[in-house]
Parts: sequence; C-alpha cells; structure tokens
Amino acid sequence: MAAQDFSIAIIGAGIGGLAAAAALRLVGLDVRIYEQASAFARIGAGIQQSPNSIKVLRRLGLEDRLSAAAFRPHSALNRQSDTGEVTWERMLGDDAERHFGAPYFLMHRGDLHEALASVVPDDIIERNRKLVGLNQTEDGVTLEFEDGEPVTADVVIGADGVHSVVREALLGVESPRWTGRVAYRTTYPASLLGGMEIDDCAKWWGPDRHIVMYYVTPRRDEIYFVTSTPEPDFKVESWSAKGDLDMLRDAYKDFHPQVRAVLDACPEVHKWALVERDPLPKWGEGRITLLGDACHPMTPYMAQGAATSIEDGAILSRCLDGVDRAGVARALRRYEDSRKARTARIQTISRLNDMNKIKAEIETTYGYDVWTAPLAEEMAE
Ligand SMILES: Cc1cc2nc3c(=O)[nH]c(=O)nc-3n(C[C@H](O)[C@H](O)[C@H](O)COP(=O)(O)OP(=O)(O)OC[C@H]3O[C@@H](n4cnc5c(N)ncnc54)[C@H](O)[C@@H]3O)c2cc1C
Repeated sequence: MAAQDFSIAIIGAGIGGLAAAAALRLVGLDVRIYEQASAFARIGAGIQQSPNSIKVLRRLGLEDRLSAAAFRPHSALNRQSDTGEVTWERMLGDDAERHFGAPYFLMHRGDLHEALASVVPDDIIERNRKLVGLNQTEDGVTLEFEDGEPVTADVVIGADGVHSVVREALLGVESPRWTGRVAYRTTYPASLLGGMEIDDCAKWWGPDRHIVMYYVTPRRDEIYFVTSTPEPDFKVESWSAKGDLDMLRDAYKDFHPQVRAVLDACPEVHKWALVERDPLPKWGEGRITLLGDACHPMTPYMAQGAATSIEDGAILSRCLDGVDRAGVARALRRYEDSRKARTARIQTISRLNDMNKIKAEIETTYGYDVWTAPLAEEMAE
C-alpha cells in the first residue's frame, strides 16, 4: 500500500484519465481530475476492446457491466471491398477468450466511458477546468486554468489527449501529423437496415481506403461503422465535423452491396481528421508524466489507442504503489520505461495498416497482461 503523502492531478477525464484515476485509487492514492468540458458528451462511436484492456477493466470491477452492454463477436472478418472474399478471419469468440484470458468486446464508446466514470467518485472530477499552463518547482507543480484558481499538486499526469497541453509544456509546441485521411463514423439503429443482416464484425479493404462495421450491443440492435478515407483537402483545424453523406457514399460506391446498404441507411455521420505522432523519446520530467493519446496517439487500425491508454493507468498504479513523495519522480520514469517500447511498436505497426503485419502482432498485443508484465528496472537515485 502507498505511503499516501503526495497528491496526484490528472488532466483530462477521457478514457485514459478515468482508467488511471480508478487504478490509482485501487492502490490507495489521492487523485483529482481536471477536465475542460462541462459535461461528458455521448458521440456516435463504437469501440473495440481487446483482452489486454479487459484485464484492466476486470480489476476495476467493470467486466460484468461491460459484458451486459457490449457485443461479443465470434470473429472479425477481413474482406475484399468489391468481391467480399474473406482474406482473414480473426477469431474472437470462446476459444480466443480462453487463450488470451479475457473476452473481446465491441461496444458503444459512451458505454465504456460511462462505465469508467462509474468507478471514479464524481466529487474528484472538476469540470470546466481547461489547463492552460503549468510550472514545476522543487515543491510541486502549479497548474493554471482558463477559469478558476490555480492548483498545486505533487504529481501531474497529462491525460489530455492528442492536443495535450501538458505534452506541449514538456516538449514544445508541435502539431500532430495529419495523415491526409478522415474517419467517417456513426452509430445508428439496426432497424434502419429494414431486416437486412450484416456481418457481426467486418473490415472491408479497398485499394486505398477501408471501412469497419460491427454491432455494438448484445441484441445486435445498433450498428457502427468507421472509415479511413483519403481526403487530403479536409481542413485539419476542424478536426471533428459533420460529414456529408453524399460524399461518403460516393467514396464507397465501388464497395460490396453490404457496405453500400449500410451507408445508404445511415441518417447522419461525423468525420474526424486522423492524426498521429512518431513515438516520443520522452514522456515526462520530474513529477510530470503523460498517458494515452497525449504521448502515443496512433491511427486506429489496430483498435489499440484506448486499450493502450487503459493499460498505461494500470502500469502507472503498479509503479506508484508503495512509493513515497521522495520517490515519485523515479517511479514515473520507471512507468515510462515500462511502457514506451510496447506503445511505440503498436503505433508503428498500426500506421502501416497491413493485414499480415497486424496478424503477426495479435499474440503479443492481446496476450499482454498488465498485472504480470515485468516492469522496467528502477533507476538508481
Ligand atoms: C476513428 C477512431 C476510432 C477509434 N477506435 C478505437 C478502438 O476501436 N479501440 C481503441 O482502443 N481505441 C480506438 N481509438 C482510439 C481512442 O479513441 C483513443 O486512443 C482514446 O480515446 C485516448 O484516450 P485519452 O484519454 O488518452 O484521450 P481523449 O479520449 O482524447 O481524452 C482527453 C480528455 O482530456 C480533456 N482535455 C484535453 N485538453 C484539456 C485541457 N487543456 N485541460 C483539461 N482537460 C483537457 C478532453 O476534453 C478529454 O476529455 C479510435 C480513435 C479514432 C479517432
């Protein structure tokens, strides 16, 4: 059990920030979260969570809740965009669950976020608190916000996403790299398909674009799709926007009838600029560190962005468990050293979006157990 003589401020109540808060509280640490938004918005998005993430969510007490809300597919099909030929069936059902020690869930992103929020007391989350700057001294880190009083904390975790202010303060201003691609995505009632059945989960690979479609509830009554579509002229400043359905349908007009039917039935769609960074050489300094998209944003092609953010929080809790105030900087470097190689590899493979390379990573990606994985050596004083 931790010595409990230091306070932790987490910036951002996204999936990574909430998971970290819950994991740190499990080892008895004192955490507060500062979130810029006034409320949590439920955007129309699905999310895949693989066994490596579910092993963390299980320890947080969320497996049953998620199991009731999520769809558990037998497999995910990889298909040719036009003929529909199956080029790889990624097994995800009972055998895979036995093999990897946890299930694979497809769910509404809002359900995952709400589940994580349910294990973090509401009174430790301060909303409308947009971090604008921070200053580290011998005594701690002072956080400055757009609104409200500054705060001092002993440890700061930047879980503030791909445009992280904490990352900027540590490493300087550098926009993430625009991939020239957008993700059109939405969820909608499966009843709008008029009785047509679709695959439980499939990725349809075209020559320069793809679309992933799956159910997000156990009743198969809500479906989700997400694309990777070249649109180099999209203005990245508006990194999230309403999508034009005609443009989307036109971009997939040569795809299989199943894909076209899903796009034809879709009532509205959002689009997101797909951005990424190269693996960072450094995640922190002194009593400050980063977590999730703030330090390893990736293209979503391996569905590992949130999963690895959730892993980060668990490893951070292992590194800080039992540490006193004098030892926190060393513990944070140990956390970073324990995480960098794995997240860099997933970032790099994900970017390639190469089916055979992704296939070769399944064992180490899903098989990782955050609770037993060896931690990096602790640095000497
Ligand atoms: C199209 C698409 C599909 C994806 N599909 C999957 C998938 O299937 N599986 C998967 O595992 N991952 C997926 N991901 C990746 C996943 O969404 C991200 O990796 C994950 O959300 C990262 O979580 P985070 O908490 O680090 O960041 P975020 O979710 O971005 O949360 C950051 C939080 O910080 C807050 N914040 C930001 N700046 C400040 C500030 N200055 N002060 C205070 N608060 C601040 C934000 O409001 C937000 O609440 C997908 C991503 C995309 C784009």
